[in-house]
Amino acid sequence: MGHVIEPASSGRAKCRGCGEKIDKGVLRFGERAPNPFGEGEATYWFHLTCAACRRPDEFLTVEQPEMDPKVRLMAEAGRDHYRLARIRRAERAPSGRAKCRHCREAIPAGSWRIALEIWEEARFSPMGFIHMSCSKDYFGTADILPRIKHFTPGLSPADLGEIADLLGNSSE
Ligand SMILES: [Zn+2]
Ligand SMILES: [Zn+2]
Repeated sequence: MGHVIEPASSGRAKCRGCGEKIDKGVLRFGERAPNPFGEGEATYWFHLTCAACRRPDEFLTVEQPEMDPKVRLMAEAGRDHYRLARIRRAERAPSGRAKCRHCREAIPAGSWRIALEIWEEARFSPMGFIHMSCSKDYFGTADILPRIKHFTPGLSPADLGEIADLLGNSSE
């Protein structure tokens, strides 16, 4: 069976993209794949925006004429720049120990970084961090603020301003 978009039949499933519950009745994306732990097929559920951001190739296989154009654009950007699907959230580095996956330099404590994850065995696993300012070179685009906002609830206007500056500074 192919992937699906349908209203959530219960409020129990958690989104594989953001970890939050998917409310009953909300449209959700279901990725169908062979069950990695046994027989048959498994379905992995996502909020639509989370699926567009994190499983763009699968998401774009489902015809959805009523699709919010912003959501479709995020999926198309993810198809063009495959590493965008790795974006989990923005955060301030709690220590200076982690190194950037792109430039290999340390990420200073307190500075903005992007937490990355990779999809394997039907779940996302942590795969390290990059400097916010390395985004353009790492992803191939610095147009990532909408997904940063989506996956990092609670960013203040000041936070978003700092992040936008770091993304802009990386474009030269
Ligand atoms: Zn989600
Ligand atoms: Zn870097």
